[in-house]
Amino acid sequence: MDIAGKVALVTGASSGIGAATAKRLVAEGVVVGLAARRKDRIEALAAEIEAAGGRALALQTDVTDLGSCETAARALINQFGRLDVLVNNAGLMPLSDVDSLKTDEWKRMVDVNVSGVLNATASVLPQMIAQHSGHIFNMSSIAGRKVFIGLTVYCATKAAVAAFSDGLRMEVGPKHNIRVTCIQPGAVKSELYDHISDANYRRQMDDLASKMTFLEGEDIADTILFALRSPARMDVAELFVLPTEQGW
Ligand code: NDP
Repeated sequence: MDIAGKVALVTGASSGIGAATAKRLVAEGVVVGLAARRKDRIEALAAEIEAAGGRALALQTDVTDLGSCETAARALINQFGRLDVLVNNAGLMPLSDVDSLKTDEWKRMVDVNVSGVLNATASVLPQMIAQHSGHIFNMSSIAGRKVFIGLTVYCATKAAVAAFSDGLRMEVGPKHNIRVTCIQPGAVKSELYDHISDANYRRQMDDLASKMTFLEGEDIADTILFALRSPARMDVAELFVLPTEQGW
C-alpha cells in the first residue's frame, strides 16, 4: 500500500523507538505529529525533519491526560484534514520488586502504559471512524507475553496493552475498516532503562546491555512500516521482534 501523504500521530516521539519511527514514516512521505512531554526534543526533531524536506509538527502532549491527547489529534486534523495512523508508543519501565512498594512508579506505569494508550486511541477514533479507515499500532512488549521477576507491574501493563489491541482489532476492523497491530519487542537500545531507580536492577540491565546486542529503534520502526504498507485487506495483528541473541 502506498503510504505517502498519510497523517500519523506518534506518541513518545521524543526519543528511542518513537523518534526512529517518526523519521522512518517521514522518509516514506507521511506527515507526522510528534507527541511527547519534552518540548525541546520534539521541536528539535521537527526542525531536523523539516530541514530535510519532510513534514512534522511538534505537539507537546502528556498521554495521561485525555484532553492533551485530544488537542494533539485535533491539531493534526485541523492542519491536514485527516488522521490515518496512531503509534501508541509512549511508555515507562522502572523495574523493581513488588515488595519494594514503589507505588508511585506502579501508578506512573499504569497511567502512561495503559491509560495513555486508551486516551490516545479515544482521541483518534472518531476521525478514523468518520474516514472509515485507519491503522493503530500499540507498543506492547515481550513482557506482555511472559512475566519476568522485577518487571511484574510493567508486565501487567503490557499484557493489558496486548489484550486491548486484540479486542480493539476485533471491534473496529470489520465495522470501521481500522487495522490494529500490537508490537511486542524484546530488548531495544533506548532511554527506557535510564528511569530505573532500583540500583540492583539498573546494574543488571547495564550488564545485559554489555553482553547482548540490543535491537535499534529503527528495527522496530521497520516492522511498523511493514505492517502499514501491507495491502488494505491484510491486518498484521501481532509482531514479536527480538534480538537474535535474546534467548529468553
Ligand atoms: P524511551 O524512554 O526512549 O521512550 C519513551 C517515550 O515515552 C519518550 O519519548 C517519552 O517522552 C514518552 N513518554 C513517557 N511518558 C509520557 C507521557 N506521560 N506523555 C507522553 N509521552 C510520554 O524508550 P523506548 O523507545 O524504548 O520505549 C518506547 C516504547 O517501547 C515503550 O512503550 C516501551 O515500553 C516499549 N518497549 C521498549 C523496549 C525496550 O527494550 N526499549 C522493549 C519492549 C517494549 P517524554 O519523556 O518526552 O514525554
